[in-house]
Amino acid sequence: MKKFFIKTYGCQMNVNDSEIVSSILVKAGFERVGKMDSADIILFNSCSVREHAEERVRGRITQEGSRKNSSNFPIIGLLGCVAQRNGNSLLQEIDALDFTLGTDQYRKLPDIINKVINNKDEYGFDQQNSSEIYEDIKPLRNTSVNAFVTIMRGCDNFCTYCIVPYVRGRERSRSIDKILTEVRRAGQNGYKDVTLLGQNVNSYNYKDYDFASLLKKAASIDTIRRLRFITSHPKDISGEVIATMAEEDRICESIHLPLQSASNKILKKMNRKYNYEKYFDIISELRTAIPDIAITTDVMVGFPGETEADFLETYNALKNIKFDYSFTFKYSPRPGTKAVEYSDQIPENIRLDRLQKLIDLQTVITEQKYQDLVGIQTTVYVEQVSRKDSKELSGRTRDNKIAVFPGKKELIGSFVEIKVTDAVGWTLRGKQIK
Ligand code: SF4
Repeated sequence: MKKFFIKTYGCQMNVNDSEIVSSILVKAGFERVGKMDSADIILFNSCSVREHAEERVRGRITQEGSRKNSSNFPIIGLLGCVAQRNGNSLLQEIDALDFTLGTDQYRKLPDIINKVINNKDEYGFDQQNSSEIYEDIKPLRNTSVNAFVTIMRGCDNFCTYCIVPYVRGRERSRSIDKILTEVRRAGQNGYKDVTLLGQNVNSYNYKDYDFASLLKKAASIDTIRRLRFITSHPKDISGEVIATMAEEDRICESIHLPLQSASNKILKKMNRKYNYEKYFDIISELRTAIPDIAITTDVMVGFPGETEADFLETYNALKNIKFDYSFTFKYSPRPGTKAVEYSDQIPENIRLDRLQKLIDLQTVITEQKYQDLVGIQTTVYVEQVSRKDSKELSGRTRDNKIAVFPGKKELIGSFVEIKVTDAVGWTLRGKQIK
């Protein structure tokens, strides 16, 4: 039986896609292994959202390719957005690569691998099939505690910096019944913390169901204890979604709501379809409805045309809103997107300087937010043995913060009450009280 290993880059959609790929391959008679060294087939599930991620995967393929033996093992395949975007040209460029396969083509994977094994030939498939939604495939999950359930694929928004609509195709929503069945089953199988996943979950649309109605139904499933969702789009999040979050006990008090910029001029140029005032109103509405909600965001600096004054608006917005955490990025020009053609690109040194300023600001805010939690009692869903200390466990609070406390691994998968005794960086430390 041939063994495969998948290395996943990028967002949670890719993590879930890797679980779908694992399911397809195991069903076809391959064995999943946890170490790259012991695999006959290495699959890189790539991300092309930022240039850096694309470069990393190229470097890693070349590195692993140097281990190929006289029978040409391991076989190396490239999946995901990079494969979708320019798989065929990468096949020509990287000697070690045996095949590439775009995001909507994974059902072909067993067949392609068998062809490579038998013929030692190269295959490139990057054509798009935007109706694929892998409705019938049960993901083979990577962990035993957290489940990600894809509710939709693709994106229709065409933010001018983003490659996703070009590589993942148009929005299409899964059947509500299939989603609810998958959530229920996940809970029955021990996954008590479930995240509904999509590029823009707020535009979920299946027959008469929108995202608020899906959320309400999923939150009533009693086999799970916690329900989350990513990613939300400020232009689409509705009052009903916020009301549902406030009403339903299983929906966790946390949300990720990308801001990107607080300058209305830049938001317009990004084609984000909201302005800062609307964004700020949503934050106020969320905090009124759910007072202890944790809010995280994505912010991009150095978008073409961003002046110092535009940047300051974003900087001041972070100061004002005080996000629990901000994922901060410098603009990365992606070939094929509209923004790459803008003539007013910002020099790299300015982008880096602005990025550092935001990181410094957010670090202070986040550390203070975590310090404020010292002394509270909170419930942690135990996920794993801590990577830093085998006598400690690591888990997640309802507001999506990592908490570490001394404990035995038998507690993995259970809910433990802790008292927070300290906050170190972005980790809460505590001791078990129940
Ligand atoms: S909403 Fe915008 S940033 Fe998000 S995936 Fe769609 S195009 Fe990209």
